Amino acid sequence: MVLVQLVYVSRPSRPMSSSDLAAILGTARERNANDGVTGMLCYSGEFFLQILEGERARVCATFRKICLDQRHTDVCLLAYAYPERRLFSEWSMGYVGLGDIPRELVLRHSEDGTMRPILTDPKISMAFLADIAAHVSETQTAVL
Ligand code: FAD
Repeated sequence: MVLVQLVYVSRPSRPMSSSDLAAILGTARERNANDGVTGMLCYSGEFFLQILEGERARVCATFRKICLDQRHTDVCLLAYAYPERRLFSEWSMGYVGLGDIPRELVLRHSEDGTMRPILTDPKISMAFLADIAAHVSETQTAVL
């Protein structure tokens, strides 16, 4: 199996309610569990930041579907890598809202405390997602 990691950022087409997010996550978790895809979705109100990892063809097929989804727009690929192992193996799709993340964690990756994945080095977004995964694991604060 060729393991890949794909990270993108996008803009919600409209403000997302908890039921919108629950619907996205319900589908994502079901499909990803079938496809062996894992990852994390972060929603800020202004952007979605998502990492997908798994077998190359499955991740690419999932990403193609995601790009067509009209619930968001301006999908921008930030990173595509061949890691040795998964970072998010525990989640068919973990979720965290930016408001649920402690400010000190955000400040580790942004001097003014505002994440702007579209403008920053993708390595920063990757490190941010890895820190979120560790935080969610430690505190069991997965939302939804
Ligand atoms: P179907 O379920 O047959 O739906 C047909 C079309 O309608 C698709 O284009 C779909 O995008 C769109 N659609 C479905 N529900 C709605 C709705 N409530 N409002 C508007 N349009 C809708 N899917 C995954 O499998 N894995 C993921 O990790 C994943 N992450 C996502 C992250 C975000 C930010 C978003 C917005 C969506 C995500 N999805 C994910 C959902 C994905 O975009 C597809 O909707 C889903 O995979 C079903 O695809 P399908 O082609 O089988 O479409």
